[in-house]
Amino acid sequence: MHNILFKAAWKILGRKELHIDKDLCVKCGKCYKTCTHGAIIQNEDKSYDISNDNCHRCNHCLENCPKKAIKS
Ligand code: SF4
Ligand code: SF4
Repeated sequence: MHNILFKAAWKILGRKELHIDKDLCVKCGKCYKTCTHGAIIQNEDKSYDISNDNCHRCNHCLENCPKKAIKS
């Protein structure tokens, strides 16, 4: 329920979902370690994706990415 309300509020505010620019990402894993909501997923090829259903938009991953590869 919390997630549904959060997503609705996010849409009303007009904020975009986050994604990782694979051309910029160097697979360092800092975003994965930083996210306390389990919203960063590690893929088999060691690349990362963001599960926007779990993301709380705290922006910690954006602030800690050394390559500025996380975009909204
Ligand atoms: S912190 Fe940035 S460069 Fe490192 S894995 Fe995450 S998106 Fe890629
Ligand atoms: S914004 Fe916060 S919750 Fe969302 S993926 Fe980044 S660190 Fe995780």
